[in-house]
Amino acid sequence: MTDLRLEGVSKAYDETDALEEIDLTVRDGEFFTLVGPSGCGKTTTLRTIAGFEEPTEGSVSFDGRSMGGVPPEGRDVGVVFQSYALFPHMSVAENVGYGLRFRAPPNGQTVEDRVAELLSLVDLEGMGNREPEQLSGGQRQRVALARALAPAPDLLLLDEPMSALDARLRETLRRQIKRIQSDLEITTVYVTHDQAEALAVSDRLAVMRDGRVEQVGRPQEIYREPATRFVAEFVGDNTVLEGEVIANDRNGARIDVDGRAFEVPALSDGSEYATVCVRPGALSRTVDRNRIQVGVETSEFLGETVRIHGRWNGREVTLQLADAPDGDELTVGFDPADAHVVASE
Ligand code: ATP
Repeated sequence: MTDLRLEGVSKAYDETDALEEIDLTVRDGEFFTLVGPSGCGKTTTLRTIAGFEEPTEGSVSFDGRSMGGVPPEGRDVGVVFQSYALFPHMSVAENVGYGLRFRAPPNGQTVEDRVAELLSLVDLEGMGNREPEQLSGGQRQRVALARALAPAPDLLLLDEPMSALDARLRETLRRQIKRIQSDLEITTVYVTHDQAEALAVSDRLAVMRDGRVEQVGRPQEIYREPATRFVAEFVGDNTVLEGEVIANDRNGARIDVDGRAFEVPALSDGSEYATVCVRPGALSRTVDRNRIQVGVETSEFLGETVRIHGRWNGREVTLQLADAPDGDELTVGFDPADAHVVASE
């Protein structure tokens, strides 16, 4: 059991500042996700935790013990990478057993028993004699997970473990990973660029951008109360309206966007400009406040709902309705309480 701390971690390569002053605490037993667009520093953060990279500045500690100078094999971490990285000429059981090369199995178990236990944990019972090429992508990734977990590490690090799989398999595997993680209560740091996946699996997540942490929170907080416009747009769809604050008292604020005043919740600071974010589901034909006329550009049938992309005054609008609109124009409104306001950048 481990809690993990990064304090002021920066990492510079020759010409790139890959990480800048990262502060993060991952609690014991937590499923913690690093999410953000390509190149924002997720993998570098994970590699720094694992000990494959040393930070240029700052420190990484496990349960208060500094990991400075400790090599990966001394850190008690299990790592699963994007590619399966299984040994093709070893059987499944030998691949899992390879995870025990630095450390004997826990609780005095034999290697054979430990391998069998792990294969059963990842639902691959009886497949120990197969070769990796006789497995599906999802099965191979579960072998990689079993290998990482074999020495009973304190910390599990997963770097886009599902990116090579198709959508349905990803969903199944992510449920399996989540179940195994919570059964073992193992502190886990998970890297993904897929915001929906991050919201679905995490106890908490950090949204990263350009080598920095933009916001840390539980999935509901990140989704409902994004701290910045970047988070609001990266995590789920939002209609974003930026304008001038023309009134603000305890009953609410009014934001002028292209000469049109929108009613939103009261603002806590005195900024002159503000950005209004409205989730697709909050825009409705039957709400009579904050109404806008939307020119429909595309509508996508998603089964339960229809997602519509359109424009109001040249600005992108995304909404979600039960049925496709009849024409190419549509009037919708939103309740001020459903709008979330962030500072303008
Ligand atoms: P992706 O989702 O594309 O894997 P990421 O968020 O994991 O991206 P990193 O791989 O951590 O991002 O990269 C962060 C930045 O550091 C990028 O600008 C990348 O080009 C740079 N970088 C990473 N590794 C090295 C390296 N070994 N040498 C030089 N620059 C590097």
